[in-house]
Amino acid sequence: MIIKAPAKINLFLEVLNKRKDGYHNIETLFLKIGLFDKLNFKLIKKGIKISCMHPDVPEDATNLVYKAAKLLQQKTGSDKGAHIIIQKKIPVFAGLGGGSSDAAAALLGLNKLWKLGLEQKELLGLARKIGADVPVFVTNYTAAIGRARGDKLTPLDLENKFWILLVKPDISVSTKEVYGRLSSSLTRTKNDVKLLVHALRSKRMELIEKTLFNRLESAAFKQYKQLNKIKQMISAHGVRAVLMSGSGSVIFGLMNSRKEAIKLKQEFQGAYDVMVVRSL
Ligand code: ATP
Repeated sequence: MIIKAPAKINLFLEVLNKRKDGYHNIETLFLKIGLFDKLNFKLIKKGIKISCMHPDVPEDATNLVYKAAKLLQQKTGSDKGAHIIIQKKIPVFAGLGGGSSDAAAALLGLNKLWKLGLEQKELLGLARKIGADVPVFVTNYTAAIGRARGDKLTPLDLENKFWILLVKPDISVSTKEVYGRLSSSLTRTKNDVKLLVHALRSKRMELIEKTLFNRLESAAFKQYKQLNKIKQMISAHGVRAVLMSGSGSVIFGLMNSRKEAIKLKQEFQGAYDVMVVRSL
């Protein structure tokens, strides 16, 4: 059985405050995109075996797919085994949620493979235990607003699709470090995700440009000047809606036209890892 695990970008990420559990309360807008890892599930007698050719993805118990499988076994008492082969297409340490999406695909895939019959609500509960970005991938929402740790979800129907240029420099940003660098000023003005939703529905790039936001950008840009340089370069080519996704290091440009996105891809090819994808 094969399941496709999509990537996401964050079109909005505001950090509200730090929680007692160490996480931050955030408000974010997830948009799923047409870039997928593939997970192949095979029933075996015993144990959980992970195979992945990607050098930065562990095949041991630290793989989020392994954690998902273990949680399912603990919850249901199932002693069936699985060999899960992960074919990685989503760049790692990119802010595209690859590991989280793989974990969600494992919850969905193993629920079927092992005939566990868990309902979505139960799968969401397990997803939350794995990570704040996992629940959105358990749902079939193509876009959603995430509140609390980013895991309290409201689905969004955007109707229109976007073409997206993804530029990934050879930098691995640590999510923990970026959050740690945030200045904790409480007086700053908060940005409003509702204005962005309105802008996205209008398809007007000049409105989207004004309302896209990522609170983590300045902290990441301070540490890695190259990220801001990439953002400036994409903007210099006439793209109005440009932002860092999640805690980085992918910088994306949002466009209405495929042609424009493909043309830009050619500009950046060679220097960076670049892709053109469509929103789901
Ligand atoms: P996010 O947007 O969720 O922050 P990210 O791009 O920062 O995503 P990922 O690529 O999802 O991060 O994960 C990177 C880390 O997670 C690495 O340390 C990697 O070893 C570990 N990891 C565990 N399981 C996986 C997996 N299935 N795929 C990718 N990375 C995984």
